[in-house]
Amino acid sequence: MTDRKDELASNLAKVERRIADACAAAGRGREEVTLIVVTKTYPASDVRMLSELGVRHVAENRDQDAAPKAAACADLPLTWHFVGQLQTNKVRSVAGYADFVQSVDRSKLVTALSKEAERAGRELGCLLQVALDAGESGRGERGGVAPDGIEELADLVAGAPGLRLGGLMTVAPLTGEYAGREQAAFERLMDLSTDLRRSHPAATMVSAGMSADLEQAVAAGATHVRVGSAVLGVRPRLG
Ligand SMILES: *Cc1c(COP(=O)(O)O)cnc(C)c1O
Repeated sequence: MTDRKDELASNLAKVERRIADACAAAGRGREEVTLIVVTKTYPASDVRMLSELGVRHVAENRDQDAAPKAAACADLPLTWHFVGQLQTNKVRSVAGYADFVQSVDRSKLVTALSKEAERAGRELGCLLQVALDAGESGRGERGGVAPDGIEELADLVAGAPGLRLGGLMTVAPLTGEYAGREQAAFERLMDLSTDLRRSHPAATMVSAGMSADLEQAVAAGATHVRVGSAVLGVRPRLG
């Protein structure tokens, strides 16, 4: 193996162990939690190595980087997740390679995603990004819909051709009542998921937890964790 592949393999093993330990501590089966490796800012060659090492889910947050990477890795058996704030003018591109968009947070985006999914003849899984720190505007600093906007947006996704409602996603808030209380934030997301599943039973995905707080997410009941730096290294630039 190359040095880089060794490094990725070793990091992946550490993350795998953390997830397994967190599952065991929570009395959950390891198969209840899916690892999504966030490959943003890292090259397609890393994505290829991760695929060879058994990774099946990857995530990106900027279409400009993700589109060429997905194209370069089109031969790999990977599921692509889009996890960044999404402008409607990027939706056509994203709908061409993403299997899931985890950052759905407004009706205009739903309309655009539906139109482009249909055009591409693809079905897009959609997760509603929930802002647990949403202010008066009803939106979070880094995107996301406020909890009281979930139901309306969920109904919209569920009724939109080309889209499938997958569940909910959040990023632990840096401000507001949940700042520094990751597990409480993820438990709140779990409660919101329970509410959502009353009207949308198939929307079972709960995406929460990153490199620093995956244990808290698994303890709260997350079905998907999104891990970047713990696998690939600390990113050279903000992303
Ligand atoms: C970058 C990113 C992650 C991964 O963060 P790490 O701290 O590198 O694990 C997870 N989710 C989203 C939405 C991200 O943008």
